[in-house]
Amino acid sequence: MPVLVMKFGGTSVANLDRIRRAAKRVGVEVAKGYDVIVIVSAMSGKTNELVGWVNETSPMYDAREYDAVVSSGENVTAGLMALTLQEMDIPARSWQGWQVPLKTNSAHSSARIEEIPNDNINAKFAEGMKVAVVAGFQGVSPEGRITTLGRGGSDTTAVAFAAAFDAERCDIYTDVDGIYTTDPRVAPKARKLDKIAFEEMLELASLGAKVLQTRSVELAMRYNVKLRVLSSFEEPSDTAGTLVCAEEDIMESNVVNGIAYSREEAKMTLISVADRPGIAAKIFGPLSEAGINVDMIIQNIAEEGRTDMTFSCPTEQVKRAEKALNEAKERGDINFHDLVADTNVCKISAVGIGMRSQSGVAAKMFKTLSDEGINIKVIATSEIKISVLIDRKYMELAVQALHDAFELDKAA
Ligand code: ADP
Ligand code: ASP
Ligand code: MG
Repeated sequence: MPVLVMKFGGTSVANLDRIRRAAKRVGVEVAKGYDVIVIVSAMSGKTNELVGWVNETSPMYDAREYDAVVSSGENVTAGLMALTLQEMDIPARSWQGWQVPLKTNSAHSSARIEEIPNDNINAKFAEGMKVAVVAGFQGVSPEGRITTLGRGGSDTTAVAFAAAFDAERCDIYTDVDGIYTTDPRVAPKARKLDKIAFEEMLELASLGAKVLQTRSVELAMRYNVKLRVLSSFEEPSDTAGTLVCAEEDIMESNVVNGIAYSREEAKMTLISVADRPGIAAKIFGPLSEAGINVDMIIQNIAEEGRTDMTFSCPTEQVKRAEKALNEAKERGDINFHDLVADTNVCKISAVGIGMRSQSGVAAKMFKTLSDEGINIKVIATSEIKISVLIDRKYMELAVQALHDAFELDKAA
């Protein structure tokens, strides 16, 4: 039997009614002759609640226990989905990550998938089971501890299963009807795309577009998984949603094809650091060891042998970054006058593979922001993206202005 992977996000399994609606959708695919692997998220809001409980109990928590707690939301929805399918006379059972087993490394709270053996589930399909419901977001480490794949990780579970079972397609059911030129909740003029290239989606995801977890796009690209994002609230059709596909499969596309934003960005500045060879290594070495995801970096021009060094990192990592740098200072490895964290910033990015061959995108982006009176604090560019750090209060305005300036409401 051909295999189909169907993933239902938090809002799609938010209550028993929604689980029933999702199960009906699964029933339709079973009736077409598919063996279906359903990946479920926790009910919406549940994971946030669990994370909150962990933080309240232990601010510098043991990540193994964090994973034990936050993975539990998916166990509930997996069991409920299997029960719902059974009530519809569809042979189904649930699997927690460790039962599959979905094997990961030991990087708790952001573990990477290493292997998904398919024999257990295939044996059940051979016995007549039609649906394997798998708890998303979780796995098991070589030490036998429960791991999680990072926020939004059920997308990655879904794509990894599609690759491991050579599925015909991986359908990601969510609360929007596809991938848009930007978050439709921030810019009402956002336009739904029929197709988007892996590379563009990868950039958008890593720059903050939560519609797919970055790692899921990476895996889909590597294993050539046919990945589709569609709404769990609308009647499905063969052309519904957005297909994430190879660049060659897209005929026309705008120079800039999407705008992403990330609210959870912080700007940290080391004031008055000695400007001498090796200093960057001494600053960023300890940050990397502490697991800080440094994104943008600026080093100011030195004056009298001292300079300021600014970098950005996720807001939730600010405390850890401060600790790592202050410890390096105490050891005498680095010397700075002050460390200032600005958590009232956000990152706005323009993404498009057309940027490889067209110039002028940066100039247009800066002009647009300046016309709105928005000050740019940090800039970073790569082959297909330009990112800026600005005050968070201008986030919506900047996204909308850039969407207008690049005419993203119009198709290429
Ligand atoms: P789920 O719980 O189903 O995984 P998520 O909340 O993780 O859903 O992802 C869907 C959300 O992603 C949408 O509700 C939307 O607000 C947001 N989003 C951000 N950028 C985009 C985009 N470019 N296109 C569509 N949705 C986007
Ligand atoms: N429930 C997890 C989260 O909220 C995983 C997911 O939904 O993809 O991050
Ligand atoms: Mg998600």
